[in-house]
Parts: sequence; C-alpha cells; structure tokens
Amino acid sequence: MSNNGNEKHVKVLVLGSGPAGLAAALYAARAELAPVVLTGMQLGGQAALTHVIENYPGFPKGVGGAELGELFQKQAEYFGAKVEFDTAHEVDFSQRPYIVKTDSGEYKADTLIISTGANSIHLGVPGEVEMTGRGVSYCATCDGWFFKNKKVVVVGGGDSAFEEALFLTRYASSVTLIHRREEFRAGAILQRRAKEHPKMNFILNTVITEAVTGDKLETLKLKNVKTGEESTFETDGLFIFIGHSPNTDMFKGKLEMSDLGYLKVNDKMETSVPGVYAAGEAADPHFKQVITSAGMGAAAAIQATHFLEAESA
Ligand SMILES: Cc1cc2nc3c(=O)[nH]c(=O)nc-3n(C[C@H](O)[C@H](O)[C@H](O)COP(=O)(O)OP(=O)(O)OC[C@H]3O[C@@H](n4cnc5c(N)ncnc54)[C@H](O)[C@@H]3O)c2cc1C
Repeated sequence: MSNNGNEKHVKVLVLGSGPAGLAAALYAARAELAPVVLTGMQLGGQAALTHVIENYPGFPKGVGGAELGELFQKQAEYFGAKVEFDTAHEVDFSQRPYIVKTDSGEYKADTLIISTGANSIHLGVPGEVEMTGRGVSYCATCDGWFFKNKKVVVVGGGDSAFEEALFLTRYASSVTLIHRREEFRAGAILQRRAKEHPKMNFILNTVITEAVTGDKLETLKLKNVKTGEESTFETDGLFIFIGHSPNTDMFKGKLEMSDLGYLKVNDKMETSVPGVYAAGEAADPHFKQVITSAGMGAAAAIQATHFLEAESA
C-alpha cells in the first residue's frame, strides 16, 4: 500500500469483513497483492452475531460465530492482509484507480471486492424503532443474556429465527415463536429441535402489529391473518429475524443491481464495472451461508488476481 497523507493506493481493496470479505482477503494476500480490508461496523459480519455455526465444514462440533470470524481474520493477516477499522461511504468508478471515500480519508484501488453483506429487515410496525434496545432486538447473541428468566418472542420462520429462538431458551423462561404463515422455511432438524424443546411455544398465522411503547417492552399487539382477530401478548423481549436486505445503496446508479438491491455478478464475480467484483450476501439472494459467501469471496479474489496479472503482462 502506498500512502500519501490521507490517500492510500492499494491493488485490492475489500469492502467488508464478513466471511466473503475475509476469504477474499486471504486469497488476495496469498497472491501477494497486500489487500486492505475495510471492516465496516461489524467485524466478522453477520456470522459474528450468532453463537454457534454448525454447518461450516471442518468444525465437527460447530464453532462460535465470532470465533470463526477471528480465525478468518488471523489467517488473512498471517498472509499479509491489512484489516482497517474503517467504513466506505462513496465510490467513484469514473476513472482508474477507483476512488473510495471512507471515515478516515480516501483510498485509490486498482481493483475492488465488494462484500458489504446484508442487514436485518425491520418489521416496520409502530413502536419497533422506539423500543429497540428496550426489549426489541435483532441479535440474540448480543442481547439474550438480558432476558434471563424472562419471556421472549421471536418473529420469523427461517433458519435464523429457529437457531436464535433455540439459543434464547438458554436464558429465557419461555420463547414464543410468532410466524405469519402455517409452514416454516427453517430446515427439518431445527424445526424438530424447537418443537421438542419444553420452553418453546408457537403462534402461527399471526403478525405483530405494534410494540406498545413505554419505559420497557411489555406488550405486543397481534393479528391473526386468517380470522382477523386482534389480541395482545405480554412479553419482555421481541427478537426479529425476518430476513435481510443487501448493503448496496452506495452503488446505486454505479453498478448493475436487481430490483431488491443485490449486485449483479457473472460466474466470475465480475460486476458491470471492470476490476470491481462482488461476493457474499451483497450479491447473493439465494444461498446466504457462511460457506457460500466465503466461496464467492475466494472466487472474486482469484479473478481480481487474473485481472491485475493481465494488466501488467
Ligand atoms: C443470526 C444469524 C445466524 C446465522 N447463522 C448461520 C449459520 O449457522 N450458518 C451459516 O452458514 N450462515 C449463517 N448465517 C448467515 C451468514 O452469517 C451470512 O450468510 C454471512 O455472514 C454473509 O457473509 P458476507 O461476508 O457476505 O456478509 P456479512 O456477514 O453481512 O458481512 C458484511 C460486512 O460488510 C461490512 N460493511 C457493510 N457496509 C460497509 C461499508 N460501507 N464499508 C465497509 N464495510 C462495510 C460489515 O461491517 C460486515 O463486516 C446467519 C446469519 C445471522 C444474521
């Protein structure tokens, strides 16, 4: 990395320190490209928010999400990647090297790997924003401990909702999973574990219409979507796991993306701008796993390496 005041010039700049970004950094570092990773606000990405990951190969008994992130980071750094606690705000792809403006200044990058991942989708009901941190949460690992011997509600029907609901049974006296449909998307093993767990209860075909505001969360308003019947539910906590939306606003009008905001890539992880690659959940509306995100990151870095080699040949 050449450094001129606040402006740094790098061969490979990686945006994001989740599985995709850190895998990309490992591959780019082993290609001796001295990549720089900008961590963003969440070192380790979403994976670091979950207490255990049981489906990443090589860990027969599972591995802590934060621990896996640390291992990814250490391995990338061992081979020469630099991890900077910095966040990108603006990109300029009108000329090369590309310019990325960050909290700390400005980077010039010969190639860019975008692995900015995704963020939790909010329910969008009255009281949700006001009660966040007062009972409403999007992270069981971060906040579960505060609900020791208390009643909590989890909303969602996918793997994340079930994994996090099961995790919350360690602390809470009861965990009620509320889902708007009759069927769940979560995998069969998770569903079985949850249904057999003595602390778990289920309310189906029901949506939350309001988190009643106050000093702390006490009451949710519910509506049965089949009967239209409205009710209230007393709870100390509400954990929301209803999906994610990609962190790609910065690239609007600059890179091709789907209607939902996922960056469009071809099978070489190339975006619509040469030398700019995207990997992981920022570009993946389908798989959304640690292993698939890391795989896309590795592929992006291999392709960036070929791109730079071809340029210097
Ligand atoms: C609660 C929960 C449980 C999960 N459990 C599992 C599981 O058991 N197994 C599994 O395989 N998957 C699991 N997942 C999914 C898995 O965590 C994700 O698929 C994976 O983390 C996606 O990796 P990523 O690198 O694409 O993005 P993310 O992990 O979302 O990382 C994005 C990174 O980009 C950074 N960033 C964002 N904006 C900027 C910016 N402007 N500048 C710089 N950096 C930026 C963020 O700080 C972060 O470091 C779980 C997810 C959640 C939320």
